Amino acid sequence: MSQAKPERRQIIWLNTIFLTVTPVLAIASTIYYGVEYGITWRELVAGLVIWSFTGMGITAGYHRLFAHKGYKAHKSVRFALAVCGAAAIENSAIAWCSDHRHHHAETDTDGDPYNAKRGFWYSHIGWIFFKGARGDAYDNVPDLRADPILAWQHRNYLAIAIGANVLFVVAAGLLLGNMLGMAIIAGLLRLVVVQHMTFLINSVAHIFGKQPWSKATTSRDNWFLSLFTFGEGYHNYHHSFQADYRNGPRWYNWDPTKWLIWSLDRVGLASHLRRSPADLTLKARFETSRDELQPRALARMGETAEEWSLLLQEKREQLKDQKEQLMVSLREGKEALCDRFLSAEAQVEHYLQELKALRVDLKERVGMSSTGTSDSERQQHKREAERLRQAMRQTHAKAKETLARWEALALECVSAAPGPQPVTA
Ligand SMILES: [Zn+2]
Ligand SMILES: [Zn+2]
Repeated sequence: MSQAKPERRQIIWLNTIFLTVTPVLAIASTIYYGVEYGITWRELVAGLVIWSFTGMGITAGYHRLFAHKGYKAHKSVRFALAVCGAAAIENSAIAWCSDHRHHHAETDTDGDPYNAKRGFWYSHIGWIFFKGARGDAYDNVPDLRADPILAWQHRNYLAIAIGANVLFVVAAGLLLGNMLGMAIIAGLLRLVVVQHMTFLINSVAHIFGKQPWSKATTSRDNWFLSLFTFGEGYHNYHHSFQADYRNGPRWYNWDPTKWLIWSLDRVGLASHLRRSPADLTLKARFETSRDELQPRALARMGETAEEWSLLLQEKREQLKDQKEQLMVSLREGKEALCDRFLSAEAQVEHYLQELKALRVDLKERVGMSSTGTSDSERQQHKREAERLRQAMRQTHAKAKETLARWEALALECVSAAPGPQPVTA
């Protein structure tokens, strides 16, 4: 139940002044410094490195590790991420994650601290100017309050935030020189950039972009935003599969945070990386696409909803008995297109079922491979598990291919010219 009454909230002057003054000061002092002394690669490199540290403190630490538990990490990593995250000056991890969990639980409502339905500026930065309706309850993060590292960070947040910023800038200055330039570019400007990149996820990633995974919330996938946010732009996927350690699930999706977590796993500093099962992600994509395309295709092909579902049912039955026969459709025109579209749809559903069954079998096999009574029995279960993984990969590839074909056919149906109209007297 939402308790938020945003219109009556008290202004937090410290936040308001800080977030208004710092961008102006950062831009003005950068221009002044550039004109007066010239900006060198040293300030830019230091700025980029400290931006990555503090930015990924938020994305890999606050967001994917602490708020969503997308993976587990060694104490040293948790500590480093808590310190780097604090240096982004976006509140303590406990406060940040509490807001963020409310954002996911009550997206686009008054219970969502950065409700995108209240407009760009409110979701971007305006919400931080006001006292949260829930105060300092943090009752949705008991796990984080019980964590000694995060409890320490919460108690000493301001000291850690300021201390880490000073430490980073002074270290860069000692290492590369130009202390004043470091303070302005790697310190102030970098801080404003890292903050606004996080804010853009709450504003732009809820306004501009595609919704391939779900249309239930305003969240969007925006690859361009990912280039500046360490991979957080794939926000529609993230809202659909929150616990996944990746925000961009495909290998080519620009998501440096997932690559960092994956690398930490490789060197033994992270574990239990959570990935959403392929059948569920494909199903989400298929259903989202179907909700949009099917009614349009249906309308163009002049079928009624009942006829459509009867046809689909019939195709499903046929698919079970005689797959090949279905594939051969030599008839031309609207009927053939409809037929191909329907059989592709039935086939996608068939593969999704198959994937789900394989995943259940695999889980069982993996369980048996650790509890088997003898060595040979455990080996046999392991071999069987490997065979199932192989089968899953093949079915996944087939499902993806069929889904793409189905989408192409749906679009063909949508744009198909209507059949000859009966001539009326
Ligand atoms: Zn999230
Ligand atoms: Zn969101």
